Amino acid sequence: MSEFSLIQKYFTRATPSAVLGVGDDAALVRVSAGMELAISTDMLVSGTHFFPDADPFKLGRKALAVNISDMAAMGAQPRWATLAIALPAEDEAWLERFSAGFFALADEYQVELIGGDTTHGPLNLSVTILGEVPPGKALRRDGAQADDEIWVSGTLGDAALALAHMQGRLKLDEACFTAIAPALHSPLPRVGLGIALRDIAHSAIDISDGFLADMGHILERSGMAAEIRFDKLPVSTYLRQYVAQDLGKQCVLAGGDVYELCFTASAENHAQIENLSAWLDLPLSCIGNIVAGSGCKVLAADGSVMTIKETGYDHFA
Ligand code: ADP
Ligand code: MG
Repeated sequence: MSEFSLIQKYFTRATPSAVLGVGDDAALVRVSAGMELAISTDMLVSGTHFFPDADPFKLGRKALAVNISDMAAMGAQPRWATLAIALPAEDEAWLERFSAGFFALADEYQVELIGGDTTHGPLNLSVTILGEVPPGKALRRDGAQADDEIWVSGTLGDAALALAHMQGRLKLDEACFTAIAPALHSPLPRVGLGIALRDIAHSAIDISDGFLADMGHILERSGMAAEIRFDKLPVSTYLRQYVAQDLGKQCVLAGGDVYELCFTASAENHAQIENLSAWLDLPLSCIGNIVAGSGCKVLAADGSVMTIKETGYDHFA
């Protein structure tokens, strides 16, 4: 199959919200009047971000999900995406499943694939996403203020726990693994939350590298410090059984691939955020406070400062 017919068959869909989609030298879009464009790229590399034999449907879904998550973290409405893909072989069964996963999530979030690039090479997936946000309303990393409360959506650490099981670093029972595997393979980007936080949060980030690593990004960019209460960090009933162990603590504090939002907001907005949690049917946990200074302190239930061995994933550390 030629490169052109492959693109035509697997990556060309109607793009009613674009002026021009796949097929020309560039796509054309019209940004909604008065909106700012939010742009982000995230790459998934075989062997680094996923196992080479990963289910292609879930991979297609996740390649887009991690990008939509960046829009959520900015409080932006995702609109369009491009996909650059390097493929080791022309495997139609693989492409069929991969594109089905990609478009399943694209449809769910009303994102249109408007272009990309397709080449031969080691399996590599790079998505660029474009979204819209009203001027001045984007949720940035540099806006945390002293006395802000720190919040996290959903739960932390299940993806890392599932990965530890797949790598043989611990053995979960079948039912437990089945229950937490979607956290690793099928993250749900928190777009609705990000948009709802535009007028509430002072800063936000999506947790991809690990809670402490990503919290650290907010603190550095904002020139602030944080005090986190370990017992307030949200964990699933599955991970709860392991938090007394080092591995469990690491999953919670440093486990990557979470794609929940961490955000800071004035304590005055506490009740409003609790209402938002009920409205979105999404747990939002208040886990600590922003304070003056630098660094992140994690306090155990008895008030003592915990020593942290690992903060998160760094590709070059
Ligand atoms: P060019 O030679 O101008 O770079 P290509 O042959 O690479 O164009 O791509 C042809 C068209 O197909 C372009 O509109 C491009 O955006 C689109 N395209 C290529 N690969 C993909 C892909 N994986 N997903 C979506 N669109 C793609
Ligand atoms: Mg090209």
